[in-house]
Amino acid sequence: MTYWGAAVAEGILIKGGRALAFPGGLTGEVDIMVDDGRIKAVEKGIAAGVATVIDASSCVVAPGLVEMHAHLREPGMEYKEDIASGSRAAARGGYSAVFCMPNTEPTIDNSSVAEYVYDRGVNEGLCMVLPHGAITLGRGGETLAPMGEMAACRAGVMGFSDDGAPVSDSEMMRRAMEYACTIGTLIISHSEEMSLSGGGQMNEGYYSTFLGLRGIPPEAEQIGIYRDICLAEKTGAWLHLAHVSTSGSVELVRGAKRRGVRVTCEVAPHHFSLDDSMLVSYDTNLKMNPPLRSRGDVEALLTGLADGTIDVIATDHAPHASHEKETEFDRAQFGVVGLETCLALVLTKVVDPGVLSLEDAIARLTEAPARIMDMGRWGYGTALTEGDDANLVVFNPEYEWTVDPGEFMSRSRNTPYAGWNVRGKVLHTVFKGRLVVTDGELV
Ligand SMILES: [Zn+2]
Repeated sequence: MTYWGAAVAEGILIKGGRALAFPGGLTGEVDIMVDDGRIKAVEKGIAAGVATVIDASSCVVAPGLVEMHAHLREPGMEYKEDIASGSRAAARGGYSAVFCMPNTEPTIDNSSVAEYVYDRGVNEGLCMVLPHGAITLGRGGETLAPMGEMAACRAGVMGFSDDGAPVSDSEMMRRAMEYACTIGTLIISHSEEMSLSGGGQMNEGYYSTFLGLRGIPPEAEQIGIYRDICLAEKTGAWLHLAHVSTSGSVELVRGAKRRGVRVTCEVAPHHFSLDDSMLVSYDTNLKMNPPLRSRGDVEALLTGLADGTIDVIATDHAPHASHEKETEFDRAQFGVVGLETCLALVLTKVVDPGVLSLEDAIARLTEAPARIMDMGRWGYGTALTEGDDANLVVFNPEYEWTVDPGEFMSRSRNTPYAGWNVRGKVLHTVFKGRLVVTDGELV
């Protein structure tokens, strides 16, 4: 397949960075020459010629990050975010590819909406914007969407999800998985048993009782995940579980993988960096679905990352306007933005404490999502091989900075990390051979 985003020929020489490639790992200090949209050379001591030179000393050079789970809100809710602002946020966060969820208005449940989103991404030209398609028409849960049509269109839809809501009808989910098997695509499940979670505002436990807010029990997620794993086991479908948040969910995935079920899963940075005790502030930026869980769940998620049960780190970037968040807790919308803080949170909360090595952590943001989403068909490589499309991020893993939502490129500011001191900053992002972010700012 061809990604139609136009490459602008521009020579760039990235000098003296520590390069991370997958598979392969840390390759040591090298120079990377980029020309005509592609990686031209990866070796020591390339002489600077006509190219723009980027000094990457004390920086890491990695493949552009791949986001499997973002809500870019276009079409229909552009007051929260659109593909232009979402692409800017992604590029600034070090991403070269963003998969966006279909809970838009209209829903991405047919090829024309899928192609609309894809084309808007191409026009912005800051990162690949690739839509996931809905499993059911209008995400209504009643009629299967034309998944084959979406997979075959130029947006090449690979993942299908009714994310934001589960496919509650088990027979419908079974049929969706059977359909996905026949066309070789992936089902991405927002697993939730709504009869248990409906009306809940936060994790059910000590703090929900203390705060007098209705709880969402961990079992609501775990029952959903158990059902979806059973159906994947029966149908042979490839199941990817979105945003796992409880220790029980990690255990279910661990067991399924041990049995050989084709299942992968992701965790969001807020679920491994925050917990439900923080809700004593009643800060609505801490309200998301699945909710922030207990300290024990956070530990289990970190263990799941460490032992490889959790394949991917995905932000679940969910922008909301201030009037949708600055309201009573039980009226506020669920969700947080994440594209511009993810890498720093991973470095600060996963790499610094030694949960994962730098290489393994970056693999969860690049190699793993690229493999699951079969990015090779777009010519998207993570091996830093000569001839590959030049999609690269240059970041300083030691750089300390303070999160200021006022500086976000995203149209929305709903982050719980305002004022946090974090470590690790994206300095440069190269997309298809073009410098789109330099010194931390959009070009
Ligand atoms: Zn979801």
